Amino acid sequence: MFHVKQVTKMVEIIIHCPVCDGTVFSPLLKVKDYFLSQEEFSILSCGSCGFRFVNPRPDKSDIGRYYQSDDYISHDAGKKDFLSIIYKFARRISIRRKYGIVSRCSGGRKILDIGCGTAEFLAYCQKQGWDVTGIEPNEKARLFAQTRNLITTYEQLDALADLQGTFHCITMWHVLEHIHDLNGLIIRVRKLLAPAGMFIIAVPNCNSWDAQHYNQHWAAYDVPRHLYHFTKDTILKLATRSKMQVVKIYPQKLDAYYVSMLSEKYKSGKPHYFKSVVAGFWSNLQATRKETGHSSMIFILTLKNT
Ligand SMILES: [Zn+2]
Repeated sequence: MFHVKQVTKMVEIIIHCPVCDGTVFSPLLKVKDYFLSQEEFSILSCGSCGFRFVNPRPDKSDIGRYYQSDDYISHDAGKKDFLSIIYKFARRISIRRKYGIVSRCSGGRKILDIGCGTAEFLAYCQKQGWDVTGIEPNEKARLFAQTRNLITTYEQLDALADLQGTFHCITMWHVLEHIHDLNGLIIRVRKLLAPAGMFIIAVPNCNSWDAQHYNQHWAAYDVPRHLYHFTKDTILKLATRSKMQVVKIYPQKLDAYYVSMLSEKYKSGKPHYFKSVVAGFWSNLQATRKETGHSSMIFILTLKNT
């Protein structure tokens, strides 16, 4: 089924919800790309399943220009401003935690990280004796991964056609929300997974307290780079649709602080560190009291026929 309709060479419209194939959507929010273009995008909500997504959106040929910034620190190893330093500190803690989750969940030591960036996580896994492979479409990040971190990294999943059924673990750390062909990607992941393999995805949660508090200023909307905005409920539905099951969910508590800092900056034009720390703390506290969930969450999926 075609989920999108090409409107112009560079803009496409989602016509079938990627989670439930529904065709009735309601406008939810208008959100500005505070990070780069300052353009405004619409987030719609599916009338059947509640899944939220950017619609219309830049197509694959046009999205690249929304990533062209030196401030895109997911791909940048040299920045020294306060937020970047915080980000890198958090990343070091986060890599160890991710490794803890992966090593606990995975039945083997062959791992694929899709959207590996500069491959810091894979480099850590490799040091622990894992067989590691990365996918990274960004050329600058890919070259850094290969030359500095010595990680085998490919531009596209197609390069791994001969490795079907071999990966014990496939990870996507804050990457799934960037993928145009969401269901196509999951079909490929299913093929690459070993029979008892784990698919581990981390995504922002637009149902979290901080998402509701900051609303259109919530930094994890990050339009149009984040094409989709997940919740626990929509991930569970997507897993069912994909013949997979969610076997475990972990919170990413540090994300509440980082996202709140950026959101404060988007809301008022300057960072309010104290308010951000309070908001991050409060979001984590609310997540333990209510069903809304944390700012970002990690989902562990397995194939349903295993
Ligand atoms: Zn839907």
